[in-house]
Amino acid sequence: MVENANLKPTAKRYYRKKNDLFSLLMKMKLWPSRSGALHGLKSVEVKGDTAVLTTHCGHSFKVTNSRRSRAARWLRNKNYAEPCRACGVPEWKIEKYGGTVFSRGHGAVLPGQSDVRAGKEAL
Ligand SMILES: [Zn+2]
Repeated sequence: MVENANLKPTAKRYYRKKNDLFSLLMKMKLWPSRSGALHGLKSVEVKGDTAVLTTHCGHSFKVTNSRRSRAARWLRNKNYAEPCRACGVPEWKIEKYGGTVFSRGHGAVLPGQSDVRAGKEAL
């Protein structure tokens, strides 16, 4: 990443790697598609282990909650070619995403995780 001295550096935020896919999707509202476009999510409707995602560019599809899925991996690795133009993902959101670090031993465990130990994780 390019550091610009004139700009306040984007605050880094940390999410635990073990956060499940749905929690991350609901928090970040971004979806890395197989084609390499980063879509903005208009809605995430969770129903048990599946969720229906709707992008701002009008696509709707079902995904399964998995930390090891292609999408979960790509989301963590920031594996995308460019933001979807039709979705109009705002610049600040892309920057915020760029400043997000997925770490095994550090960071927020998002609500809804089954293995959050009381008192241990700061949210
Ligand atoms: Zn899109």
